[in-house]
Amino acid sequence: MNKELICIVCPRGCHLTVDDNLNVTGNTCKRGEIYGKQEVTSPTRTVTSTVKIKSVEFVRLPIKTKDPIPKGMIFDLMEVLEKVEVEAPIHIGDVVVSNVLNTGVDIVACREVLK
Ligand code: SF4
Repeated sequence: MNKELICIVCPRGCHLTVDDNLNVTGNTCKRGEIYGKQEVTSPTRTVTSTVKIKSVEFVRLPIKTKDPIPKGMIFDLMEVLEKVEVEAPIHIGDVVVSNVLNTGVDIVACREVLK
C-alpha cells in the first residue's frame, strides 16, 4: 500500500508517495527520495529540547541531538534529558551527553551560558 508523506528535508515540502517496493515519486531532488525511503523503513528525527543548568533558576540550556536518532527512541531520550544537569560555563557545540542511549549520537549545547 502506498504511503503519502511530506518531505521535511527543506522548506519546499514536496508531497511524496512511497510504494511497496520503496519507489519514491513526487520528490524534486535526490534528498527527498532518500528521506522517503528512510521514513518508511526506519524513521529518524533530530530532537531539540532543554536541560537544567546547575545554580541557575528559571533558565534552561537549549540542546539538540547532533544527528538524527530513531523516532521510536524519542520518549526514552526525554527521560534521559530530564535527569541531565549541566554546569556553566557552556559553549555552543559542547557535548552535554555523549553517545546517548548507545545511538552513537551526542547531545550538544545550542547556546552559550557564562558563569
Ligand atoms: S524532495 Fe528535495 S526539494 Fe522537495 S522538499 Fe525534499 S529536499 Fe526539498
